[in-house]
This record gives sequence, C-alpha cells and structure tokens, in this order.
Amino acid sequence: MLKKFLTCFTLTLALLCAATTAFAKPAELTGINAFDADSDTVRIEISYDGGKLDSGSISTDVKGDMLSIDLDNTLPGRVSRVSGTQIQGGARDFVEKIFANKTQERHTRIQIHFRSAPEGNVKVALEPANRSDKKSARIVLDVKKSFAADDWTTFSSSSGDGRIVVLDPGHGGSDAGAIGPTGVSEKSVSLAVSLKAQKLLTASGYRVVMTRTTDVDVAAPGVSDATELQARVDKAPPNTDLFISVHCNAFSNGKANGMETYHAPGAVKGQRLARLLNEELERLGGLGNRGVKAARFYVMTHSKCPASLIELGFITNPREEKLLASNDYQQKLAQAITNAVNRYFNQGGFDLS
Ligand SMILES: [Zn+2]
Repeated sequence: MLKKFLTCFTLTLALLCAATTAFAKPAELTGINAFDADSDTVRIEISYDGGKLDSGSISTDVKGDMLSIDLDNTLPGRVSRVSGTQIQGGARDFVEKIFANKTQERHTRIQIHFRSAPEGNVKVALEPANRSDKKSARIVLDVKKSFAADDWTTFSSSSGDGRIVVLDPGHGGSDAGAIGPTGVSEKSVSLAVSLKAQKLLTASGYRVVMTRTTDVDVAAPGVSDATELQARVDKAPPNTDLFISVHCNAFSNGKANGMETYHAPGAVKGQRLARLLNEELERLGGLGNRGVKAARFYVMTHSKCPASLIELGFITNPREEKLLASNDYQQKLAQAITNAVNRYFNQGGFDLS
C-alpha cells in the first residue's frame, strides 16, 4: 500500500515537473533595436521581459539578405507593432526592415531584411538585465555588414526598379548662377555633381532624366526665369517619381556656410525627400546643416511629383568654394543624393526617425 502510494506520488511529481517546464512563463519581447556596433557590424538587441530564455530557445538562419530568428517560449508583445522596433543612424544603410510575428503558440519569429546579404556567421549572445544601466534582459546579435559604410553602390544594383528620377543642375549657359571668390561657378558645380549622381543612380537601376547635361540654357538664352524654369519642369516625363534640383548658395558675407534642402510648403512627400537628402548630405557632405526648409521655388511648386531643391553649400565661402570644386567632394555629394533616393524608395515603415 505504502509502496503503491509512493509510486503514485513520484509519478504525480514527475508529471507536475513536466507541466511546469512546458508552461514556464513565456518571455515577452519589449523592443528590437538595430544600431551600428562599429563601422562594419550592426548590432541587433532584442529586449524581453517576464520569462527566461537560454541559448536552446534561440535559433538563427540566414538566407540571402534575410535573417530569421526563431524564439521558443516567447510572445512578440509590443514589437509586433511598429512602436517596438527601431533602426538607428548608420544601421539604416544596411538594415531595411524588421518584422516580428507569432508563428505558433509561444513562438516568435523575427525577420530582419538587410539591403544586402550579410557576411559570415551571426553571433548570438544573451545579456542579463542590468538594473544600474536600466537595461532589460536582451538577446544580442552581431551581424557583419557586407559593404564599406559609405559604399552604397555595391549593394543597390537593382533598388531603383526603373523608377524615374529627374536631376536638374541649376543654372547653365548664359546664367552662371553664383560665382565664388576664385571664380568657381554655381552652374559648373551643379552640373558636375548632377552628372556624378546620374551615374550612381543609373547603376542603382533608376532611369535618370537630366534637364541638361552640358553648359546650356534649357529653354534659351535671355528668356524669363519662369520660361527657363518651366522648360526644366517640362523635361520630367508624365510618370516621374522624383524631381531634384541642385544648386549652390551665395551670400554677400563670405562667412555664410552650410548646406540646406528645400521642399514646397505643405508637400508631405517633398518634405520627406528633402529630409532624407538633408540627412545624407549631413552624413557624407559633412558641412554645417542649415536644415530642411519650405519655400515656393518654381521647380518645386510646378513639378507634378515629389520635388526638392538642394543648396549644396556656399560658393561664396572660400572653404566651401574649394570643396564644391573638388572632384572627391562632388563624388561624396553625388553619393549622398543617391543614398537619399534609395532610402526614399526602400526604407521600411519601422524607422522611427
Ligand atoms: Zn542657384
């Protein structure tokens, strides 16, 4: 009788234990954050709360440009909504989108889409909560980027998908635009940068339409501003996706400096384009940032697609005149424009910036 009782008791205990393991409280994901750990590594931190995870509950798999992370005994919690996911700073050049979904009961799959296939293996580590740093428990994944931080062209070969981008090098022909202290003309800088951007965008799969490719008036010499500018707007085919006008700034005081980007007042998409151009110019061009501004410039208010006008820098500032005239700097500016266009079309909806 006693023996029978003990067997029964042991069995019950075993069942109870099994049940406890199977129904251990699931961890709830509270956030996913992608940021640059260093220039060639993106770190992805998945924060969670309320349950314990060990290395056995995590599996990763890279297929092409997508990393899948399967997490047992988890709930996607608030990261299945937009609010829990962030792609920060330079990581945006490499991480396109992050999704989290409940795939089965107590099972979450996180999918991270990169702009190009990552290099090598993904490193996974578990970090405990750190109260003094106010950090919750995290799964930390380090992913090697497959391109140099500012070399966009290597991984954007098809991102354009034949979309039409109009580049409008400001001024030209009889109109030199502003002239710098050593004689560099705005029309030559705007053309050189636009031609370089044309090359990069074309390599990225865009159809680039130039309002001019040489030193000419687009309408005719001596016509009114409105006629000349309308001729530029008219270069855009009916289904143009973006119109970008490239200029240099000028001021009577040679100390005035920095770049700025413009959009038409109330143009939501134009504003987004101007913001992305501004961010990329700040990052690659490195001049002082005068901001994103609204103005009623003719080419922006008359274009039928999202439009922006860039002031690359002050040609009247001796330091900036020298930069604007240099081949290397022009290439950086062209790359910044290309990056902004790529981000305009390829950025996921999870970026909170
Ligand atoms: Zn101008």
